[in-house]
Amino acid sequence: LLSLEGATVRFGGRTVLDAVDLDVAEHETVCVLGPSGSGKSTLLRAVAGLQQLDAGRVVLDGRDQAAVPAHKRGVGLMFQDHQLFPQRDVGGNVAFGLRMHGTSRDGQAARVGELLDLVGLPGARDRAVASLSGGEQQRVALARALAPRPRLLMLDEPLGQLDRSLRERLVVELRHLFGELGTTVLAVTHDQGEAFALADRVVVMRDGRIAQSGTPLEVWQRPADAFVARFLGFDN
Ligand code: ATP
Ligand code: MG
Repeated sequence: LLSLEGATVRFGGRTVLDAVDLDVAEHETVCVLGPSGSGKSTLLRAVAGLQQLDAGRVVLDGRDQAAVPAHKRGVGLMFQDHQLFPQRDVGGNVAFGLRMHGTSRDGQAARVGELLDLVGLPGARDRAVASLSGGEQQRVALARALAPRPRLLMLDEPLGQLDRSLRERLVVELRHLFGELGTTVLAVTHDQGEAFALADRVVVMRDGRIAQSGTPLEVWQRPADAFVARFLGFDN
């Protein structure tokens, strides 16, 4: 579904994404792990079309995306800080992407109801975003990202602001949800436990490069190098 080929991004003199090659297959859930500043969010933004590449390509369904604007790529991105629209109610937030796709009013209303059920917030449609807890807001952001049925769903620290017990519950729910919907997912997280629970494949980044890519079991049993082992918290 998705291929990055030599994807490179530089800011000033610094190479933040360094010739990254990455494939994500249809229905696969790939989790990107790595220290702060290793280029994880930049990678997602490049796929979404929000960050231009200095070299290399983003290919979706065999088509080079260089000339395809963000809103036409058919990918959903849930941002690290989820960026809900505070002046809109929950329903207005979830419907945002649908309006951009020209969905009818009735179609929007039905889909919003369906999504709020899906993320476990039935009846929240008319609530003010500010009245929701952090975890509820993250669910709304997830519903908003899922609304247009993106062929690729990208999540940047989707559970970042939640406490451990809520995270653990949501990881199980998400895994179930993605399986049910057949969604292809590229998710960033700091948390190795989260990545290992969610992912079919784990990608570990370091300084804009992929240090290792493999199934959770492979990475866990055979870290590619000392960096990966240390990052994952194994001291052999
Ligand atoms: P975190 O885990 O903290 O979210 P990250 O892996 O997502 O980190 P990125 O946000 O991709 O990291 O940033 C990678 C590097 O690129 C960082 O050093 C960051 O400061 C730098 N960077 C990101 N965006 C810009 C920008 N617009 N201009 C200049 N530097 C940037
Ligand atoms: Mg980031």
